[in-house]
Amino acid sequence: MKSAIKRMLAEIEGEVAYTRSLTGMSKLDSRVMAAIAGVPREAFVSPDMKHFAYENGPLPIGYGQTISQPYIVALMTDLLQLEPDHVVLEIGTGSGYQTAILSQLVKKVFTIERIPALGDASAASLQSLGYSNIEYRTGNGYDGWPEHAPYDAIIVTAAASHIPLALTEQLKSGGRLVIPVGLPYMPQELMLVEKDDQGEIHTRDILGVAFVPLQEDPP
Ligand code: SAH
Repeated sequence: MKSAIKRMLAEIEGEVAYTRSLTGMSKLDSRVMAAIAGVPREAFVSPDMKHFAYENGPLPIGYGQTISQPYIVALMTDLLQLEPDHVVLEIGTGSGYQTAILSQLVKKVFTIERIPALGDASAASLQSLGYSNIEYRTGNGYDGWPEHAPYDAIIVTAAASHIPLALTEQLKSGGRLVIPVGLPYMPQELMLVEKDDQGEIHTRDILGVAFVPLQEDPP
């Protein structure tokens, strides 16, 4: 493994330990860490950002959007408690980095991006790296992707003003949704939403976060 990835994994572990009193998690699943170790983050950033690709921070990816911080990617992935037979919906493909990590952990990933150029670029990166269990769509993630519902897990990688009803409806009983909720450019809360076997929704606040907004309108 590249020493830069090793250093990034150590930083993720350090931040997980540092935030354990907030998240209740002192260590992440080794499968999640292995999936992160397996993805070359440099392939998901522009040439001028490659130097920073393994820093534990967000980076600009154009169009006013960012590739998320590796620690947050790791934490959100862990919260989904993914299994190899799972089908996952991702809202906000962005660079495709989070998509690549999901792709390694589950059977199928459906991913939606609002900005066509970002959707095209991330699909090209993911396909060139050989990730083949992913379906792509350009559109508004607030509506989910009903044709393939219900999902074992749903991940939203932009801050929503509220928990979209379409997404909880498209979640399986026993499924998990991880979503940052809050107003644009204000402190937001990363929330874990669980649908129990009776179809009841339970939410838990995990951590204060800062995401770009989940936009309601077309670009
Ligand atoms: N997981 C991505 C995060 C990208 S930032 C990564 O690490 O690269 C959030 C992304 O959500 C942006 O690409 C943005 O265009 C997209 N987005 C914002 N609102 C959206 C919406 N309503 N539907 C789908 N995607 C949306």
